[in-house]
Amino acid sequence: MTEGPNHNGAETLDPTTPAQSPVQPVAGSTNRSRLPDIRDETRESLQRQFTEWHQPAYRLDQVLDWLYTRRVDDWKGMTNLPVSLRTQLASRWSLGSLELVRKQGSQDSTRKFLWRLTDGALVESVLIPANPALYGEAADRHTLCVSTQVGCAYGCRFCASGLEGWKRNLAPWEIIGQILGIERWHAHQEAEASGVAAPARGQSTRVINNLVIMGMGEPLANYDHLMKALRTLNAPWGGGIGARKITISTSGLAPRIRQLAEEPEQFRLAISLHGATDAVRSQIMPVNRKYPLSELTQACGHYLEKKGKMITLEYILIDGINDALDEVKPLAALARRLHAKVNLIPYNSVEGLPWKRPEESRCQRFADALSRSGVTCTLRLEKGHDIDAACGQLRLRTERESSARPTDPVSGIDPAGSEA
Ligand code: SAH
Ligand code: SF4
Repeated sequence: MTEGPNHNGAETLDPTTPAQSPVQPVAGSTNRSRLPDIRDETRESLQRQFTEWHQPAYRLDQVLDWLYTRRVDDWKGMTNLPVSLRTQLASRWSLGSLELVRKQGSQDSTRKFLWRLTDGALVESVLIPANPALYGEAADRHTLCVSTQVGCAYGCRFCASGLEGWKRNLAPWEIIGQILGIERWHAHQEAEASGVAAPARGQSTRVINNLVIMGMGEPLANYDHLMKALRTLNAPWGGGIGARKITISTSGLAPRIRQLAEEPEQFRLAISLHGATDAVRSQIMPVNRKYPLSELTQACGHYLEKKGKMITLEYILIDGINDALDEVKPLAALARRLHAKVNLIPYNSVEGLPWKRPEESRCQRFADALSRSGVTCTLRLEKGHDIDAACGQLRLRTERESSARPTDPVSGIDPAGSEA
């Protein structure tokens, strides 16, 4: 972009940015009257404050343990801290949590969570049972798909997240908060299943061991907040999730891919390709006019060279758009050049959009042809198809429902079968 975030934190995306007037975000937080959230801080910045307060070193470890291992969401819960320190903490930082407003479970036990943020904005996370073949190595628990922005400015024609434009970037704590919220929910489920009313404070069992940054928004357009959140989630004193178990998906912001290649962490990279020629890709992804395939593949090549890590190419199969056998040849050439594997994903239809999922046999034919060209590929029969798992759809539906019924705010009761 003329690279880097612009004044309001979003990447400039002319000439393809959809017409909209983004709300000015407040750096690092969502609400001017709110204190900054403690989970927006790095360990180093907290350390500085604790030193200034003349606190012994172990106090910081205790606080981090409460925040990220025991996942408490109020200061009172930090029972081994002196009241004076808890008061001091509360006067310096907020300790927010995301409000779970809606939850859907699918038959294959993929679950979708809709969160309300402190300013009322809605974002989604999707919890997916482990599938080691896709993003992780040995995955024995669950993958969580998290959002990084409210809405999206990139306006891919097939995607629900971009339909109503970009509203704001998530703060680091709002990204981290999705993981903490799910872990808390899971602990309650476990406690309930074993007949206990609530999990004991401080008890921690983990359900998430893979993260995919594939929810609502373009993660690399919220680069700094994303990195801050991922570093905390990756740190042994934080979320403890290995960098290799974290996959960042991008629609193809070439300069940011290059920037990511310079970071010390070994995060995995997935590219939402969806078209292997500029003609097809530009038709469905406006970002391709800004960063055409030649530029994108060069940036991916650079990433590969720097990291030595295999890239994943995501390719949604959309009926009559990119699923003809003619597309296999350029896709295979591109994948081979990048030593990438390809995830083929039959499109999930979105209410109000004309695009359709191809017949299963057509998807299979495409996958077979790609394999015959020597490319490693998976055909993912999308988990959660029955719960609108593609990003942005639950939020869109909820917003549409609540604006159709202005006196009936989102109640958490979903006539279409959600559980929350
Ligand atoms: N903005 C980033 C990450 C979020 S989108 C990106 O585009 O990569 C996560 C993935 O979901 C992308 O590959 C996106 O193309 C895909 N997706 C969006 N809408 C979809 C739909 N209706 N069906 C299937 N996949 C979809
Ligand atoms: Fe944004 Fe990704 Fe959806 Fe495109 S696919 S509109 S970049 S969230």
